[in-house]
Amino acid sequence: MMILPPASRIEVADLPVPPPHAGEVDAVLIPADQLQERIHELARKITADYAGRDTVIVALLSGTVMFLADLMRRLEFPLRLDFMGVSSYGSGTESGQLVYTKELKLSIRGRHVLVVDDILDTGKTLRSVTAKLSELGPASLKTCVLLDKPERRTGQFEADYIGFEIPNLFVVGYGLDYDERYRNLPFVGVLKPHVYSEPTCV
Ligand code: 5GP
Ligand code: MG
Repeated sequence: MMILPPASRIEVADLPVPPPHAGEVDAVLIPADQLQERIHELARKITADYAGRDTVIVALLSGTVMFLADLMRRLEFPLRLDFMGVSSYGSGTESGQLVYTKELKLSIRGRHVLVVDDILDTGKTLRSVTAKLSELGPASLKTCVLLDKPERRTGQFEADYIGFEIPNLFVVGYGLDYDERYRNLPFVGVLKPHVYSEPTCV
């Protein structure tokens, strides 16, 4: 049985912000090489757990793009990939009402399902998604998140595979957005306060 090293707890450190992003990014929380190292560990464990199973990866749009691409290419077993769109329409950094914007295309009945999301915050999204998917009769249903903010949880929910535990901060980059921006940053970071006070257009 392969053991996944526990998710390390990230604290804000004094890492240099790459010059192209220094105007808007206050701090780098997780640099690119640390993301890759941990994703490699997750992929080894998931490969060990799922090899030989009829597996469907269900990725949630759009924040998982980078994590999914880096994780998937390291999964060394046959699998299927599908996407679900789920957005919480709140204002700014606060989450609100959950809306499904894309439904599954594949059948998951009798298959082993691994849901991949970018970040586990209050738990509302993954509680809703797993409840919905479990009604479709999967053989098993587990969740994998790159980031976890355990202090923000509003109800019971734990992910099965966790990349990093982070403090209660709004983070962007490596797929995660603020008002649909900053998804392209190669690291996970925190924005400068002035970014939130400026009017934005999506
Ligand atoms: P939950 O439903 O667990 O409260 O939140 C999950 C969703 O909220 C994530 O999939 C993500 O879209 C969004 N979210 C939560 N925390 C953050 C954050 O720190 N940064 C960004 N960019 N999105 C977040
Ligand atoms: Mg999301």
